[in-house]
Order: sequence, then structure tokens, then C-alpha cells
Amino acid sequence: MQITEHVHTLKIPFKVQINAAQALDRFAYVYLIYGQRVYLVDTGVSGSEQAIFDYLKKTGWKPKDIDKIILTHSHPDHIGAALAIKEASSCSVLAHRDEIDWIEDLDKQYRERTLFGFHSLVGGAVKVDQLLQNGDIINLEPDLELEVIHTPGHSRGSISLFLRPDGALFSGDVVPLTSDVPIYDDFKDSLESIKLLRNLSGVEVLLSAWDEPRHADSAYKAMEAGLAYLEHIHQVVADNADSYSEGSEPRWCRNILEEVGIPPAAANPLVGRSFKSHLKLLSNSLNQKKHN
Ligand SMILES: [Zn+2]
Repeated sequence: MQITEHVHTLKIPFKVQINAAQALDRFAYVYLIYGQRVYLVDTGVSGSEQAIFDYLKKTGWKPKDIDKIILTHSHPDHIGAALAIKEASSCSVLAHRDEIDWIEDLDKQYRERTLFGFHSLVGGAVKVDQLLQNGDIINLEPDLELEVIHTPGHSRGSISLFLRPDGALFSGDVVPLTSDVPIYDDFKDSLESIKLLRNLSGVEVLLSAWDEPRHADSAYKAMEAGLAYLEHIHQVVADNADSYSEGSEPRWCRNILEEVGIPPAAANPLVGRSFKSHLKLLSNSLNQKKHN
């Protein structure tokens, strides 16, 4: 589906095993920027290359026309098809410097962020050809530039990308959906990153991996809603901070999800990781108060 003059999107469904018997239906939005060549923002999970190649064909292009893959971060639903696409197109791969270890070393990512079924979601490790940092400008073509905005929180090296001529802001997994499980490594950084994006002027469409394109006012409303959601979660975690212990973590997470309005059955170790980042902040501010 075409979104702006240069940007098209594909919603690619996939399944995530949550244990040996159960799988969740998920999806990821992948974005294609069409110019004299084609540039991808994220790739979806392993196997998504077929949907991307089919879409290219339908729009009169071929895999060899892909010039670059820009990865918003290293998680499997973003990097999963990168190797297959790179092999089919000889394109280059770009990502933030803080994400390369998890893109190039999948075992390391799995060890440090264990996700059931992880290896079936990623087609293989891919080499990153260009390291990005905040403020970089990716010159796709004359008059087609992507601005790199470092937006950590969901992960350390998450980036957002702004295609200013189209007013198109690619936000990866930075802005949480209020109807979905909250997934981030660091609550405070997430909050700051969303504020940074909200303060950008000229956003005409917000292009998240989790959500349909949000145009005009609803782009900023989605960012405000994400901020309010995180702040609400922070309050609920603070109210439940005393009842946390390592042994009770799964139950503690389910209780918080229920209070936040998400089905408790959606709890998983990644949700625990999100909520514990609030605890870290709460204990830091408690210690500061003690010392003052
Ligand atoms: Zn992610």
C-alpha cells in the first residue's frame, strides 16, 4: 500500500511461540522507500522476504533494485529476513552502533534477551555495513535524505528515521500501543525518546512497526497516548513495587498487566524486563532521597 509519494508499507503476519504448545499471532509493518532504487526500513521475520519480493514485482521492481536496508533495531521481527534480502540484492545494511552486536551475533542476543522460538524468527546473522548514530543523514539519493534520530528505550540502539520531504517518521518499536503488552528495556529512556519525536515539527505520518500509519493529528495523538500509557504503567508499578520478589515475578507481572488493562495471559519474560526497568528507577530515586 502506498502511503506517501515515496513510501509504501506491507503488513506481514507471523506467529510467535510463547511455549511449546502455544503460538501468538503477531505482525510487523515493513516500509519500502521508492526512488531511483528501493530502500527498506526493517525486514520482518525470517521468510518475509517472499512478501517483500512479491510486492516489488507487483509494483514493477525486482529484488536487485533494493539498495539499502536500514534496521530500526536488532529484534527478530525487524532483522529476520535481512540476510535473505541482502543475498538476493547485494544491498548494504545500516544500523545504530549500539545494535550491531545483537544483529551480527544472534546467540548473544538470545543469551541476553531470551525469546522462545527466537532462532526460527531470524534467517541468520547479517553483517552491518554502515554504523549509524544520532544526527546522521543517510543520503539515499539527491533530494531523498533520511535523518537518523537515536531513540533508545525499547532497545539501547533503537533509531527513528525522518524522511522530511514526505513528512514520514519511521519509529520502529519506539511508541508503544496502548492496547498491547509494553516491551522496552528502559522506561525512562523510552519516555524521553517519545518526547523527542513528539517535539519534531513537520510529521505528517507516523510509521510504526506495530501500528497502521497514523496521519496528521493522529500521529501526534499516538505519541501522546504512548507517553500517557508509559506514565500510567509507572504509577501501577510504583503501587506494586513492594510486592516484587524474583520468585513471584510472573504473578507480579500478571497483576500489573491486569491493572493496566492488558490480558494477564499476555505476560512473558520480556514484559518482566519492561516492568523491572521501572523498579530500577524507583529504587534510584529512593536512594537519592535517603542521601539528601
Ligand atoms: Zn523491538
